[in-house]
Amino acid sequence: MQKRTKALQIAAEVKRRVWERDNGYCVYCGNPSASPVAHYIARSQGGLGIEANILTLCQACHRRYDQSGERKKMRSFFREYLQSKYPEWNEEKLRYRRDDDAGQDHTRVRLHERDSE
Ligand SMILES: [Zn+2]
Repeated sequence: MQKRTKALQIAAEVKRRVWERDNGYCVYCGNPSASPVAHYIARSQGGLGIEANILTLCQACHRRYDQSGERKKMRSFFREYLQSKYPEWNEEKLRYRRDDDAGQDHTRVRLHERDSE
């Protein structure tokens, strides 16, 4: 599996922690029929599968966020929500960085991956 693909996936442990953080409800509409699988920054944009970038959403809100013109409004809502959960939250750190691919030093890459867990 490519490193980028792996970095963007959401590990079971991350899902569990996001689910607990969000109390098992859609953070947007409060629907209890929700899953901790929504990327704040989309995978297509290099959004990482880390807690600070993952949200519990119901299917309807997830679809609206991914596909609709409401994305901007929802995004600022999610930004405030995530900032309230993580004092150090920084949108710049949620994205997979291309220069991580450039380094051929595998030790460094492993350490980096551990850091982001
Ligand atoms: Zn919802």
